[in-house]
Amino acid sequence: MAGNRDKTTDQMKIWKENRGVQTLDTLTTGAGHPIGDKLNLQTAGPRGPLLVQDVVFTDEMAHFDRERIPERVVHAKGAGAFGYFEVTHDVSRYCKAKVFEHVGKTTPIAVRFSTVAGESGSADTVRDPRGFAVKFYTEEGNWDLTGNNTPIFFIRDALLFPSFIHTQKRNPQTHMKDPDMVWDFWSLRPECLHQVSFLFSDRGLPDGYRHMNGYGSHTFKLVNADGERVYCKFHYKTDQGIKNLSVEEADRLASTNPDYAIGDLFNAIANGNYPSWTFYIQVMTFEQAEKFQFNPFDLTKVWSHKEYPLIPVGRMLLNRNPVNYFAEVEQLAFDPSNMPPGIEPSPDKMLQGRLFSYPDTHRHRLGANYLQIPVNCPFRARVANYQRDGPMCMFDNQGGAPNYYPNSFSAPECQPQCVESKFKVSPDVGRYNSADEDNTTQVRTFYTQVLNEEERQRLCQNMAGALKGAQVFIQNRMVENLKAVHPDYGNRVQNLLNKYNAEAQKSSTVHVYSRPGASAISASSKM
Ligand code: NDP
Repeated sequence: MAGNRDKTTDQMKIWKENRGVQTLDTLTTGAGHPIGDKLNLQTAGPRGPLLVQDVVFTDEMAHFDRERIPERVVHAKGAGAFGYFEVTHDVSRYCKAKVFEHVGKTTPIAVRFSTVAGESGSADTVRDPRGFAVKFYTEEGNWDLTGNNTPIFFIRDALLFPSFIHTQKRNPQTHMKDPDMVWDFWSLRPECLHQVSFLFSDRGLPDGYRHMNGYGSHTFKLVNADGERVYCKFHYKTDQGIKNLSVEEADRLASTNPDYAIGDLFNAIANGNYPSWTFYIQVMTFEQAEKFQFNPFDLTKVWSHKEYPLIPVGRMLLNRNPVNYFAEVEQLAFDPSNMPPGIEPSPDKMLQGRLFSYPDTHRHRLGANYLQIPVNCPFRARVANYQRDGPMCMFDNQGGAPNYYPNSFSAPECQPQCVESKFKVSPDVGRYNSADEDNTTQVRTFYTQVLNEEERQRLCQNMAGALKGAQVFIQNRMVENLKAVHPDYGNRVQNLLNKYNAEAQKSSTVHVYSRPGASAISASSKM
């Protein structure tokens, strides 16, 4: 046997050793009946046919037929782990949520990291944003901070989300990834420029999940015990240091070890090398928000660290692997609308859209009672309400307690001190076009001031290497957008595209990105 087996490879062996029991369990059906023979069907004679009365078979097969639940439309491939969040700095002047109650307080957490566009079996090391979702099991109910490894997102209006995701997934006819779809959308919606620039920079290929930052990304509202409110953004900075993969290494891992990031996280925790992140907030007063040079609720923009410095709050540490992947990770359901008193949504249109979309998805994937599944259950709070019944209702369904409100029989009452803060909304209702809300200033800062020369060159190479797969009119539109950020950005990408397009024209063969049905001639003549 190979001597260099890691903890994931040895999972079965370790499980057996840890079990430490010599007597074997009795094998049963799902209903708990002991099974006499699980290797041979019950048949009429040795050559069959099979009898319907073979309930050992039908019990097993019928359950097997139902093993898969709907895959998440986005963030399908992921890794989960458990640990705790510890407050290291007092922020009660901003927020009354009990999770921040006092320095030293710890709260159990569940975390799920993921890629976004790929399916559940896709490779971990593809260029894609990474999901970074944290569930805090607080005594005031669960708080889910459902973020990413970037502080921004591609779009700022949630109505575009389904279309945007369609472009990242598969072509409706070929069932292949389609660079025309990807770049058509990105070039038609220049608010994508900031996130697309992050994506094609070095941070678009993080080395596993331990070496990347996390961001709540949206603007939230914090409320303190006196009812005073501020706007806020959440940041997790990796204590392991930022580490990214080279394009070559990411490609190699995608073919040799597609589960690289899952394995890296599992092995680190199993070896006692617990990953941690330092947790910060940025705070903006309502007055500052009024005067902010950008819309402070625009998810395609950051708040400058210099103007709104990071305020340390605590530390998050992961020290337990899932005991069972399906039970604790596949069923782990995050919902930005899970907010305890003291944490509230801002008007951010993307956040507002997610407040509906996430729990809606979970009711579809996991059922109306998904909050009763142990990993989602707010186990540190006592759930008492008037919701009843539904599929897969577990526990006692709140017994004989009244199921209507108000009532005269001492059932759960409202807590007026927990009512959401009031805020003014005066504008006219309308469908406001946000497409042109300054799509370039922060991207320009990123390109010219955050990246160094080598990083800029790699960004342009990575981008041109992907953009070359799209039709030329789409390439041209994207380059114009990049030029609006900075002429150097657009020109570099254009020069690389000129080279790639000339090479492609020379070879009349259809390359990686060509679609079935498109002849070599028509594919190359479009370039
Ligand atoms: P700062 O110089 O204070 O911050 C720059 C930040 O950029 C760093 O703190 C780091 O964020 C992040 N960063 C560094 N290298 C990279 C990279 N290769 N890819 C992506 N992010 C990187 O300036 P500002 O706060 O004024 O922001 C300037 C620009 O920096 C913004 O326009 C934005 O593009 C980018 N940025 C800003 C962030 C913010 O929250 N203010 C966060 C990330 C990027 P971190 O410490 O979070 O790793």
